Amino acid sequence: MFELVDYMEEEQGALLRCECKRIKTILFSDLESRSEKYCVLKDGVELVCSNCGRKHTDKYIPLEPQTFSHINLPTCPTCGSTKVEKISTGKKLVGFAAVGVFSSNFGKSMHCKQCGYKW
Ligand SMILES: [Zn+2]
Ligand SMILES: [Zn+2]
Repeated sequence: MFELVDYMEEEQGALLRCECKRIKTILFSDLESRSEKYCVLKDGVELVCSNCGRKHTDKYIPLEPQTFSHINLPTCPTCGSTKVEKISTGKKLVGFAAVGVFSSNFGKSMHCKQCGYKW
């Protein structure tokens, strides 16, 4: 079963997470409706995890439990600022491909706009 993690840009759709923690996106055009607490799949839309093969058997995809407040509001371990941003996977992948495991961004996923610290 999937949980709703977040809504993204219009053309990117919604971010879902499988029980196995695999992140999957679904286009808004595959959703019948969406609200802050859940989204509803259109009839005939199948949601299957490409990682574990689990199928979402309900039309409703509930918002994940509110344990993600620390994910949504991360704080900088150095200065405590909440002005932090996720280093996008794209950036990380590019860095990885270009300079391998020695990229300064490798293994780090957050960047503090306040003090510039990455972790
Ligand atoms: Zn899965
Ligand atoms: Zn900082």
